[in-house]
Amino acid sequence: MSDGPASDDSGDPTAREMHPDDDPYVLQGPQSHPFWAEAVADQILARDPDDPIVIKGGISPSGVPHLGNMNEIVRGYFVAEALRERDYEVRQVFTADDRDPLRKLPRKLADLDGNVVELGDVNAGALGRNLGKPYTDIPDPFGCCDSYGEHFSNLIERSAELLGIPVEMVSNTELYESGEFEDVTRHVLEHREQAREVLSHYQDKVDEEYVPFNPICEDCGKITETVTDIDLDSGTVEYVCTDMEAGDQTIEGCGHEGTATFREGKLPWRFEWPGQWQVLGVDHEPFGKDHAEGSWPSGSDVARNVFENEPPVPMAYEWFTLNGEPFSSSSGHVIMVQDTLEMLEPEVLRYFFTKDPSKARDFTVEHLDHLVDEFDEFERNYYGETEGEERTDADEKAEEIADAAYPPTIRPTVAARFDEDGDPVSTPERGSVAVVDSTRRAQANDLVDGPFGERVRLPYTFAAVLGMTDDPDLREEIARREGHVPDDAPEWVTEFALSRVENAREWARRTGNEFDYELKRSEMPDVDLDPDTETALDELAAFVETHDDPEEIQGEIYETAKRHDIPVGEFFSVGYRLFFDDEEGPKLGPFLAKLDREFVLTRLRREE
Ligand SMILES: [Zn+2]
Ligand SMILES: [Zn+2]
Repeated sequence: MSDGPASDDSGDPTAREMHPDDDPYVLQGPQSHPFWAEAVADQILARDPDDPIVIKGGISPSGVPHLGNMNEIVRGYFVAEALRERDYEVRQVFTADDRDPLRKLPRKLADLDGNVVELGDVNAGALGRNLGKPYTDIPDPFGCCDSYGEHFSNLIERSAELLGIPVEMVSNTELYESGEFEDVTRHVLEHREQAREVLSHYQDKVDEEYVPFNPICEDCGKITETVTDIDLDSGTVEYVCTDMEAGDQTIEGCGHEGTATFREGKLPWRFEWPGQWQVLGVDHEPFGKDHAEGSWPSGSDVARNVFENEPPVPMAYEWFTLNGEPFSSSSGHVIMVQDTLEMLEPEVLRYFFTKDPSKARDFTVEHLDHLVDEFDEFERNYYGETEGEERTDADEKAEEIADAAYPPTIRPTVAARFDEDGDPVSTPERGSVAVVDSTRRAQANDLVDGPFGERVRLPYTFAAVLGMTDDPDLREEIARREGHVPDDAPEWVTEFALSRVENAREWARRTGNEFDYELKRSEMPDVDLDPDTETALDELAAFVETHDDPEEIQGEIYETAKRHDIPVGEFFSVGYRLFFDDEEGPKLGPFLAKLDREFVLTRLRREE
């Protein structure tokens, strides 16, 4: 979603009452379905939309398109899928608001592989000289795409592809240049009195001089704000290239006086957004709560009272935070889809977006194991594999949500794992494949309810334990021995289950948690032990054989050391040497509780 011009939001006391259909908080109050995307689909259908139904998202290019920005795509995806499952044709589009001017230099950027770099690592000088110009007129700082704007769009498109979400990218610049935006531009200028009147309820800088069009200066290439004359017959405006205020700084104009056509400039965001709805025939658009309070009220008003068009069914979503702090593209407090997929299966990430958008939530890297556990539960709910006799109302609701939300969450995974004949693919190249045609959709649904039901998931922290061992055969042997992979599992099931190990290992590496150690499984490290310590280890083994509570084991390590007059620190060191051939390691008791017990006992008893 585009940033509006800076500092233009004023709480105007003359602001108008919003049309009752335009309340963006559509997920508040009673809903028609427990899964929000189905409820939103109902609201769209209630308006009897034309075919195809168009769902839009969009953002202005900036530094790094991060996981929070993906709300613009993944939320829309779930609504699109709900409609497609009801046999409606849906176009999901994403507008890159790439005719917006670069207002300030980003501090961080991302290359096409999703690596976040400092501004200093790219050609920052070239960016600095281009302040005030449209993103599509600025050279790509990485030199790999046609422009900065295109680089950013490519990043967004890749993120969507990695999640198996088919999105049509629409360049705003192209809409202007091709003339597709000409009619709405002309309409706004023709009805500029009306446009001013509507906007004046939302912004106080709107005076009689205000012209809702910003030409691009033919001399310096910057977006300008001072239009001196409009000629509707010839489709041109006269302008002076004056200074532009951008936040706390001023981008200097060159003073040039010139003429621009309606294709050589842009509408201000407050008109451009409703213009996009009109030109693209948008039926639904999710947006962040900043817009819910800012450009949505004015945009829906402009749509109704300037374009005389019904605005889309809105949906305000709450923002995510990352590790407890707001995402910040400029300071680099971001995580991209690429990074996330190093640690999570794509279905787990899609699952994160099935959660109620009206609630703020944190993406906590340290506790990704909780998210994965929730996903596993969600999946078991779909397959009716949840245990327990007493089902509460909450369980019932969770099952209803899983019934609706699991198929769209898993379809791109199933499409990647099974070929068009329905046979499992060994070592698939991609984790997700977009399901676009109805044949493939029907097939994917059959697979979800058929062979895919055999899939096996290793608990994430157990996968992290296996990740402490490099040997793939040993990983498999332990997974089997611990009963996580059945003896008769088909090959794809085993491979699928074990693929989680690399994800969990990456998680351990990035967080430096208790699984970020190399476990010496295949050979016992050389450790010199005195008879007292040997007896103590045997006693500890006997305790672990009959106890699995992490804190009890931790306590017993202390007790055992004390009983044998071994300094506690020394006894822990012995443990670390036995398991890691190292002087230190994770908190030992809880760690031993997570390991497979047979191995723990063998090692404590020093049996090779
Ligand atoms: Zn590029
Ligand atoms: Zn100029």
